[in-house]
Amino acid sequence: MTKCLTRPLILLAALAILTTGFVAQGNAQERNEPKLILQITVDQLRGDLLARYYDRLGKGGFRYLLDTGTVYSNAHHRHANNETIVGHTTLATGADPAVHGMVGNVWLDRATGELTYNVEDFRYPLLGEGAGVDKKTEIDPTQKTARSDGRSPSRILVSTFGDELTLVQGGKSKVFGVSVKDRGAISMAGHTGKAFWFSKKSGEFITSSFYYDRIPEWVADWNAGKPADAYAGTSWELLRDQSTYLFGAADDRPYETALPGYGRTFPHPFGNREGKFFTTLLTISPAGDELTLDFAKALIQNEDLGRDDKPDYLSISFSSTDYVGHMFGPSSLESEDNILRLDRTLAELLRFVDARVGLDKTLIVLSADHGGPEAPGYLRELGFEADYIDPGEWDKTGAIETLKKRFGIGEELITKYFHPYIYLNRKVIAENGLDLAEVEIAVAEELVRFDGVALAVSSSALKVGRVPDTELIRSILRNYNANRSGDIYVVFRPNRFINKFGKLTVTATHGSPWRYDTYVPIIFAGMEIPAQRISRLVHTVAVAPTLSLLVGAKPPTGAFGAPLHEVVR
Ligand SMILES: [Zn+2]
Repeated sequence: MTKCLTRPLILLAALAILTTGFVAQGNAQERNEPKLILQITVDQLRGDLLARYYDRLGKGGFRYLLDTGTVYSNAHHRHANNETIVGHTTLATGADPAVHGMVGNVWLDRATGELTYNVEDFRYPLLGEGAGVDKKTEIDPTQKTARSDGRSPSRILVSTFGDELTLVQGGKSKVFGVSVKDRGAISMAGHTGKAFWFSKKSGEFITSSFYYDRIPEWVADWNAGKPADAYAGTSWELLRDQSTYLFGAADDRPYETALPGYGRTFPHPFGNREGKFFTTLLTISPAGDELTLDFAKALIQNEDLGRDDKPDYLSISFSSTDYVGHMFGPSSLESEDNILRLDRTLAELLRFVDARVGLDKTLIVLSADHGGPEAPGYLRELGFEADYIDPGEWDKTGAIETLKKRFGIGEELITKYFHPYIYLNRKVIAENGLDLAEVEIAVAEELVRFDGVALAVSSSALKVGRVPDTELIRSILRNYNANRSGDIYVVFRPNRFINKFGKLTVTATHGSPWRYDTYVPIIFAGMEIPAQRISRLVHTVAVAPTLSLLVGAKPPTGAFGAPLHEVVR
């Protein structure tokens, strides 16, 4: 009898404890919601670079994140085409390019038969004084490919983390993306945020009519101050004594890109304001990131980010590391100095956010859109075989003869090769009664005979699983979107890549599925994220669902992967 009475009492007590526990936890979670989510992306920051320079980093920049955060030291992108828009959109959406749709910086639009640039959208013209891409002075080959000056995120096929934050907060969270590169800003701002990027034509930060009817007043005011002009007549100089650098004795190397007037040794002069490449040179130096920081500070202040009870989101993508890497290689005095200077820029950003929002109320995540290869010249100095590839120089006569013998036509089978994809002429193939899959495999077989080609994968074979089940092939499948990908995916041998883009010759080009291009840092810091170092293999698709879980939003629509359990536990 007594037993029967006590049991329910014990149960009730247990329930009471449980309930109080839940209530307490609920309140704690409410208290600990971040005021600001700060997503930092460093373009081409390969996973090994921060550790290489750790001893010479300041306290408040990268080291704040490395020392206080959860650091994933073995993080990779898991798609094949490691280019800027592909990596950024993967970080933003937690989806593979097959799903988010950004399969390359450029792809062939089969409807128009023209190459198309990932964020171009003629419906939404640029806003801002002197808006527009000056294609004559543009050294970024992907920007030259853009046919329209309009920009929007409309080609991103799924939601981003920023979008999910907008949704869960009923539109009350502010969501922004900032970068020197349009694609670095637009991808992260998603469909519901606002994006600003640097115009090399005007030296100003601009946006498009997708986001605003007219440029916000504070942006016009910031631009009116002409911050870029302050660099006129100055040079990029070394931060420290040259002898203290790992590459201090290796400034002048013949394989580095010597842009007119800028040269390949320090100091690198920006020239005067009227110089044809003045604003471009700023982006190939720490100045591009300093301008990005200055604009981001103005944004935080004027949009009053992180000050109310709804968490806001700011993505800042720093582009200089990428441009410097392309021109000088990641193992150069320029890249080394750029990282030391970016460290100071980052420290200033964190100091500013701490003063306005509080770092204890800011959730920070840092990663990179891709890694990068070493300069072949540098690799050769160390004993590797490495080289550039120029498909324009390939002697295709034999291959075309073989195809002609088999199909009756040769050259006509191929519409376009824009690395990594080859687009076949499906119309001609159909008109000649040929089988697309058969032609793909035949062309792929010819391709692998060319010097430097490791692999050529038929999209038809990929779709039906008639390919070996290897991690490399899986990375190409994750990159395959039926409406945008080409018919054959070309992979060059490691340490081989194209470096000539029209008149421009660069030192290093990323974009491969090899580990030097997939390897990136992932660091979560701030709030109650523990200081720990995780060495298990993780992938960048985990970033967005982790952010979602941390703020109680649902995962982005294409984010099928698991969140990082060390961060969300
Ligand atoms: Zn790049």
